[in-house]
Amino acid sequence: MGLALVHGRARAGVAAPAVQVEVHLAGGLPAMSIVGLPEAAVREAKDRVRAAIQCAQFEFPARRITVNLAPADLPKHGGRFDLPIALGILAASGQIPVESLRDTEFLGELGLTGELRPVDGALPAALAAAGSGRRMVVPAANAPEAALARQVEVLAARTLLEVCAMLHGRKALPAGVAPPAAAVAAPDMRDVRGQQRARRALEIAAAGGHHLLLVGPPGCGKTLLASRLPGLLPAPAEDEALEAAAVASVSGRGLDPARWRTRPFRAPHHTASAVALVGGGGEPRPGEVSLAHHGVLFLDELPEWERRALEVLREPLESGVVTISRAARQAEFPARFQLVAAMNPCPCGWAGDASGRCRCPPEAIRRYRARISGPLLDRIDLQLEIPRLPVSELRPDAPPGEASATIRHRVEIARARQQTRAGCCNARLDQAATLATCRLDAADQRLLERAVESLQLSARAMHRCLRVARTIADLDGCDAIGTAHLTEALAYRGFSIDGPAMAA
Ligand SMILES: [Zn+2]
Repeated sequence: MGLALVHGRARAGVAAPAVQVEVHLAGGLPAMSIVGLPEAAVREAKDRVRAAIQCAQFEFPARRITVNLAPADLPKHGGRFDLPIALGILAASGQIPVESLRDTEFLGELGLTGELRPVDGALPAALAAAGSGRRMVVPAANAPEAALARQVEVLAARTLLEVCAMLHGRKALPAGVAPPAAAVAAPDMRDVRGQQRARRALEIAAAGGHHLLLVGPPGCGKTLLASRLPGLLPAPAEDEALEAAAVASVSGRGLDPARWRTRPFRAPHHTASAVALVGGGGEPRPGEVSLAHHGVLFLDELPEWERRALEVLREPLESGVVTISRAARQAEFPARFQLVAAMNPCPCGWAGDASGRCRCPPEAIRRYRARISGPLLDRIDLQLEIPRLPVSELRPDAPPGEASATIRHRVEIARARQQTRAGCCNARLDQAATLATCRLDAADQRLLERAVESLQLSARAMHRCLRVARTIADLDGCDAIGTAHLTEALAYRGFSIDGPAMAA
C-alpha cells in the first residue's frame, strides 16, 4: 500500500478550511516533493519531517514521495501540516495502520527531534473540526485553547512518537482541558469622581452599543472613563466569546484561554499604522479593530492619528467586518467593536477652559479639528465635552462614584428590551428597523427636523440620533421615545467640530 490520506486544516482569516494531505510512495530515485501551492514554510516541512521521523526511530522510506495538499487553491501557511505529512508517510510505508487515520484530524509543527510545537489558529481549527464529526490531535501547548471548542474531542500530544503509539492502540492520549475562566478585576466606575455627564454618556453607550467621542483637556479622565466601558457591558455570550478568542488565536500573539470570557479592551497608540489598526500582511493577520471584536477599541489623541488609518476605520464601523485583499486572495476578519475616541479640544488642550490659558489661534484650532473627517465623526453617536474637574471633587474624602455592577444591571435590562424588540442592540438597527422602532410624535418630529437643519446633520447622523434616543428611552423603561429622550440624544450631537460650542 503506497497511499495514505490524512486530515488537516488550513488557516484563512479566522476560518479553518479542511485540507486533505495525500501521500503517495512510488519506485524510483529517493526524493520528496510537496504539491498544492505550498509556501516556503511548507517546503521547509520536508526537512523537519524527515528529521522527526528518523529521530523517532522510524524508517524514512527511500522512495519517491509525493505529498499533495488539497484543495490546491487554498493558501497554506506555517508548519501546521508537518504532523499530517509525517503520519501520511508513515502510513503509506506501512509503519502505522492507514485506517487509524480516518476519524481524526491532525495539527502541529514538528521539531527536528519529533517534539510537537504549537501552531496558531488551533481554536478555529477545533471549532471547524466539530462540524466534521472527527476528533482532533493537537500539540499539548495548543490543547487548552482547542478544548474551548466543546463540541469536539481534543487530544493533546507532545511528540510524534506519542501520536504513533496512540494510532497503534498502545497508548491513549490525554484529553485537552480548557482552564477555568480567570477572575478578571475590570476597572470600576467607583474610581471615577464627579463627571456626571460623562458617566451618563458611558451608560448610554453601553446600553445601546453606541460609539463615543470624549473631548476634554489633558488629565480630565478620558482614559480613565474609556477603560471602564468593558465593565459596564454584559458578559459576552459563549458564541461571541469564541469568535473573539478565535481572532486572538490567529493573531500571532497567542490566546490566553483563561481570559476568553473577558471582553477585549484595545488601546493602540496613535503612531500605529493603518495595517496595525485594521490588519494585513503577507499572511493576513487581524489588526486592533478585530482584536477588539465584541469589546472596546479606544483611540486616544484622535487628531494625532494618521489620516489614512482613521479612514480605513469606516468600513468596520459600518459593517463589523474587515476585508483584507492581497494579490488574488482575500481574508476576512470580524471587527464588531465599540469605539471610544478621545481628543483635546485644541493643540494645547485647554481651549474653553475657565482658566483662559489657551493661546491657540483660531486657525490652528480649526486645522486641528479638521484632521478628523466628517464621515468618521458622522459615525460616532455620542460626542461630548468633559471639563477639568473642580478641585473639590478630587479631594480624597469626596464620595466614590456608583459601582460598575449597579450600572451594568441597568444596562442589561435595557439590552434585554432591545433584544426582545428587534433581536439586536439599538446601534445595530438598520435604516428600515430604525424607522420602524424609533417613531416620534408629530411635535418631536418637528424638533428633530429643526435640529437636523441647525446642526447640518446627514441622514446617517439623524438615524444614529434616533437610535440613541431609543436607547435612552430603553434605559428609562419607556416603550415610546419622549421629548426628553430625543433632546438628550440631540445634545450629544450639539458638539460640532467647527461649532460655537467648541470655540475658545
Ligand atoms: Zn489651545
